[in-house]
Amino acid sequence: MVEIRSRTRSAPKEEEGRPIANPTLLKTGAQAEAARTAEAQRQESMRTKRNQPWRVWVPFSGEEEKRTVEFIMLDNSSADCPVFYEHALPDPNNDGKLTLHEVCIKEVEHCPLCEKYGDSYYVQMFSVITLLKKPIVTKDGRTISHSKRLLPVKFPQQEWFKNMSQDTFAGNMRGAHIVTIREESQRSPAIGTPQLCIDEDQKVVQYTEDQLVEGFSHPDILNQQGNVVRKANSDLYPYNYAELFPTPAAEDLRRRFGGVVPAGSSAEVKQAWSNGDSGTATIQRRAAPAADTSKDDYLGDLDDEIPF
Ligand SMILES: [Zn+2]
Repeated sequence: MVEIRSRTRSAPKEEEGRPIANPTLLKTGAQAEAARTAEAQRQESMRTKRNQPWRVWVPFSGEEEKRTVEFIMLDNSSADCPVFYEHALPDPNNDGKLTLHEVCIKEVEHCPLCEKYGDSYYVQMFSVITLLKKPIVTKDGRTISHSKRLLPVKFPQQEWFKNMSQDTFAGNMRGAHIVTIREESQRSPAIGTPQLCIDEDQKVVQYTEDQLVEGFSHPDILNQQGNVVRKANSDLYPYNYAELFPTPAAEDLRRRFGGVVPAGSSAEVKQAWSNGDSGTATIQRRAAPAADTSKDDYLGDLDDEIPF
């Protein structure tokens, strides 16, 4: 009896003095649903981030040297490099910055992301090797002086790359050495303004295959568990764009980002079936690609140190 009374008396004191939990963290009903959606987006963004290589991005402030990046083209021709519409979305894992990228499906069907976040932009993807100004030493003692990346070129600059590929390099731009400098403006192109690198004899610089091998070949790269996360010499070749940028299903985008099924669409009919009583209809879902940790993982925790 004494024990029970004691417990009864002490309970209110404990609640007043030291809340057991912040009530805003314990969500129910609609709040819980919203929180679940946010968590699903966060997990999806982590998966996407693991799947996506780093992209070339040039800072827009500081001395010119800080606003300069050099890279080597890996694709043979700009004609090999895909163009498509893309969304840059707030990334819950990166303070809401627009670093979460999704393919826009508006060319083939109603795009839930256009509806929720506004229009997408037209982009062409290239594969490059960026030359780091300051080599990075990894935890296991390797020195990294370059990094294979995606180069996202938006519409106004695509003509420059096409001309460079077709005219300057006669359809084979692989190995071309590009220097890009960004203007001191947040609205300037995020990859800077590209120029061809010129040697002392006023000739454009293009690495030969031998020079590419000499500069950028590498053995299998293993993770801490000893699994190959990057096959030998994969830095020498362009990304597999079809693998990196599969066309998402509208239903998949709606599930992850929200949005309503457009009236009269086949998806609406399917949804009506799946909500009906028959219990037999199912919505076809594209299987999500398995998380692939092979790309750039070894640079992941070092990215803040990369000087651009
Ligand atoms: Zn869209």
